[in-house]
Amino acid sequence: MLTRREFLQKAGNYTLGAYPAMIAMGMLPAAPAHPFRLEGDGNGKEVLILGAGLAGMAAAYELGKLGYQCTILEARERAGGRCWSIRKGSSNVETGGQVHTAAFDEGQYFNAGPSRIPHHHALTLHYCKELKVPIQVYNNVNENTYYFSEGKGPLSNKKVRVREVHNDMRGWMAELLAKGMDGGKIDAGMSKEDTLKVIEYLRAEGGLDIDKLYKASARRGYIDSPGPGDKEGKIGDPMTLVAMAESGLLDPDFYNVAEYTYELQGTLFQAVGGMDRIAAAFEQRVGGQIRRGAEVSAIHNVEKGVKVVYKDAEGEKSMAADLCICTIPLPVLSNIDHNFSSDASRAIDSIVYMSTGKIGLQFKRRFWEEDEGIYGGITHTNNQLTQIFYPSYDYLSGKGILIGYYNFNEKAVATGNLSYDEREQLALDKGSLIHPQYRQEFETSFSVSWHKTKYNLGGWALYSQEERQTLYKALLQPDGQVYFAGEHMTYLNAWMAGALESARSVVAALHSRVTGQRFSYPSLGS
Ligand SMILES: Cc1cc2nc3c(=O)[nH]c(=O)nc-3n(C[C@H](O)[C@H](O)[C@H](O)COP(=O)(O)OP(=O)(O)OC[C@H]3O[C@@H](n4cnc5c(N)ncnc54)[C@H](O)[C@@H]3O)c2cc1C
Repeated sequence: MLTRREFLQKAGNYTLGAYPAMIAMGMLPAAPAHPFRLEGDGNGKEVLILGAGLAGMAAAYELGKLGYQCTILEARERAGGRCWSIRKGSSNVETGGQVHTAAFDEGQYFNAGPSRIPHHHALTLHYCKELKVPIQVYNNVNENTYYFSEGKGPLSNKKVRVREVHNDMRGWMAELLAKGMDGGKIDAGMSKEDTLKVIEYLRAEGGLDIDKLYKASARRGYIDSPGPGDKEGKIGDPMTLVAMAESGLLDPDFYNVAEYTYELQGTLFQAVGGMDRIAAAFEQRVGGQIRRGAEVSAIHNVEKGVKVVYKDAEGEKSMAADLCICTIPLPVLSNIDHNFSSDASRAIDSIVYMSTGKIGLQFKRRFWEEDEGIYGGITHTNNQLTQIFYPSYDYLSGKGILIGYYNFNEKAVATGNLSYDEREQLALDKGSLIHPQYRQEFETSFSVSWHKTKYNLGGWALYSQEERQTLYKALLQPDGQVYFAGEHMTYLNAWMAGALESARSVVAALHSRVTGQRFSYPSLGS
C-alpha cells in the first residue's frame, strides 16, 4: 500500500496519468462535470430572451450569474415549453381545436414531452444536481412487455413477450451463422481455430445446444413457471423464423435498435415526480424575469440593439434591449415578422420538425403490473399506437397513467387529425387488443399532438446532412444582435440536453462579444 506522499512522488513522474488516478483515490476534488467558467461582468446589459423553455430559462440563469439584466417573454401562461408533465388542470390548445383540459386525479401525471435522460447527457444531469432536482432510474427496456402485430401472419393479434421474440431471433440467427461457418459456407477469412472460437461464441450468444441447434431455453421464459417440489417449469416451443417474418416481427415497427441506440442505452434517468420538475427548478431561479402570456409578433435588429413587439392581455407592446436570445421553435418563428438576413430567414422557413403525439390514459388500477408483471418499459405494435409506455415510477401504487400511444410521422399526423374523443377511442380500441383490462379500468385521458400545438408546431427539428452544412450553419451565427438557441441549434435534437447546451453556447458567445474576450464553448474551463 502506497502512502499519500509516496503516491504523489511516483505520480509526479507520470503527470498525465496521475491526475485521474488521484481523483479516483480521493486525493483531489474532481472538476465539475460540466465546467462553465466565464470571466468578466455583463455590467447590467439588457438581454431580451424569447421563450421560457429550458433553453430560455437556462440562458437567463447563466447570464444572471454574469451580471446581465434579462427579461424573458413567454407566450404561454406557463414556463417550461416542451418540458411539460400533464397533471390535473393542465390544458392545451391545438391548431383548429378546442381547449383540452386534463381531469387526472391529484398526484397522477405523465410526461407529454421528455421522459428519459441518458446517462451521458452530463449537462442535464449537472443542472439536476445544481438545481437540486432529485432523479431516479428510468426503466426503458423490459423483456416482459409485448410485441403485438395486428393483422399480419400466423402470430397476428397475439401478444408475444419481448423476451420470446428477442431470444428466438437470437437463437435462430446464431444457429444459421454457426451452421454456415461450420459447414464452410461462410468464409470469414479466418483460421480454423478462430472460426471455432466464433462458433463457440454463437453457441453462447444464441443459447444453442451441443449440436449448434436452437431448441429454446429458459431465456424465452416459461409457459409453466418453476416452483416447489417437482415443479420443474416448462419452457414453451420457440416461434419459427418464418412465423416471425410473416407476422411482421422482423419489420421496422419491431426493430430492436431503438433500445440499443447510444441515447437509449442504460442507465437512463428521470426527474422524480415528473420531468417538469427540471423546468420548475429553473423557474424558481428566473421566474421573476418571465413575462407570461406575452406573445412575440415581431423581432427587429435596430441600430444599437433589438426591438421586439409582443402582445399580452393588455394589448400590443414593444421592448428594446441591447441583445436578444431567440429560442422560439422555428415553425413558430417562421410566422413572426423579422428583419433577419436572407440566409437566416431561409433556414427558419425550411427546417422541418417531427410530427409526434402522445396520449396519457388514467386507469383505476395498475393492471399491467398486477396482472401482467410489467414494471416500466415499452410495448411495440405495428398499428397506429406504435408504442405503449408503462410508467417507471410509483410501482405497486393504486392508480396509474400509462402512455397509450407515442407515435411519429404519418401515424402521428393521422392521430393528430382526430378529435380528442376519437384519439381516446382509438387508444382504447387498439390498446384493449393487447390489454383487455382497458375497458373495465379506464377513467380519463389527455392527448397532445405536438405538431398541432400552438407555440411549438412540431416535436423537434429534423435536419438532413446537407441542411446541417447550409441552413443550420446560417443560424449558428448571431443575426445582428439576435442569437438563436434551443434544441434545434445542436446535434442533440429531441433532447433537453440540446436546449441546455445551446443556452450555454450562446451565453458564451454573447459574453465574449460584450467583454471582448474569447470563450469557445464547450471547451471552456477544462
Ligand atoms: C414528445 C417529445 C418527447 C421528448 N422526449 C425527450 C426525452 O425523453 N428526453 C429529453 O431529454 N428530451 C426529450 N424531448 C426534447 C425536449 O423536450 C426538448 O428538446 C426541450 O424541452 C426543448 O427546449 P427549448 O427551450 O429548446 O424549446 P421549448 O421548450 O419549445 O421552448 C420554447 C418556448 O418558446 C415559447 N414561444 C413560442 N412561440 C412564442 C412566441 N411567439 N412568443 C413568446 N414565446 C414563444 C414556447 O411557449 C416555449 O415555452 C422530447 C420532446 C418531445 C416533444
